[in-house]
Amino acid sequence: MSKPDVPFPQSPVVPNMVDGDHQIQFSCHKGISCWNACCANIDISLTPYDIIRLKKRLDTTSTVFLRDYTVPHEMEKDGIAGVKLRPVDGGTACRFMTPEGCGVYEDRPTACRYYPVALLSIRKQDEYTDTQSYALVKEDHCKGHEVARTMAIDAYRKEQGAEEYDELARGWRQLILKKKSTGPAIGAPSLKSRQLFFMACYDIDTFHNFVESEAFGKLFKLGADEKAMLMADDVELMQFSFRFLKQVLFGEKSIELDEEAAKERLVKWQARQVEIEKEAAEKREEYERKMLEEGINEEDSGLGYCEDESCGDKR
Ligand code: SF4
Ligand code: SF4
Repeated sequence: MSKPDVPFPQSPVVPNMVDGDHQIQFSCHKGISCWNACCANIDISLTPYDIIRLKKRLDTTSTVFLRDYTVPHEMEKDGIAGVKLRPVDGGTACRFMTPEGCGVYEDRPTACRYYPVALLSIRKQDEYTDTQSYALVKEDHCKGHEVARTMAIDAYRKEQGAEEYDELARGWRQLILKKKSTGPAIGAPSLKSRQLFFMACYDIDTFHNFVESEAFGKLFKLGADEKAMLMADDVELMQFSFRFLKQVLFGEKSIELDEEAAKERLVKWQARQVEIEKEAAEKREEYERKMLEEGINEEDSGLGYCEDESCGDKR
């Protein structure tokens, strides 16, 4: 199934943006001639909430789920880390596909719930919230469009349980839109900030350990009740991770800092920057010295013998 996030040229996405009240003609049911055709060729991006639902369903950790069931990818050219479902080994089919249909139906990802609708999250200029628009995906193999059942996209989202998924992915989508809109001015994000984004958004169990750590506790002031709630509930922790990322990546302060610890950390960070610059300068010097030496050595070897007969220099 091609379940794209955005329409691309040559894609089966009907290139019209429509609102939630737009009527679609579609129905998918067991027994339809194309049953499972959509899950035989997947391209499905996962949201942080999709991962939490699936790792819980599979009774595993987010770290193991990411390793075994996903492939990382870069969203657009903004250096934003994304995650896609990994198809079966050597094939294109979803590994959750069964002859009876989706093997994780109650916890299927957002893109699967939306199909054949594509969600377009758009941030208008000078606005700091996103607005949702939709596009229709029409693929030749999908016969669901030929079934005479019409309903509004909003009603379809409700029927498919997509509303809850959208609500819980809102903070993440806003982070992405924010990064996209600031990206070109700031440039490519550092490896560290990309790793932090990946961990906080997708690897909720590692983020759990991070928030539980002594270092985190020293820097951020969390009340005992709030911390206990975050440690007990992955979804609450995920929402917190979006706030955390907004704070550390975009300076939108919503988590109280221990000012002393923050100052101490800044001093350490500045000292480390000086160290890094010093190490870089030493490496540069060493490299230049080596190049110079190699240059002299080359000359030395050339001085010893010249193969050109016309060259009288045979010392
Ligand atoms: S998760 Fe389920 S619905 Fe989605 S592609 Fe896989 S089998 Fe199909
Ligand atoms: S009708 Fe479309 S969504 Fe349903 S099984 Fe067929 S191809 Fe998949």
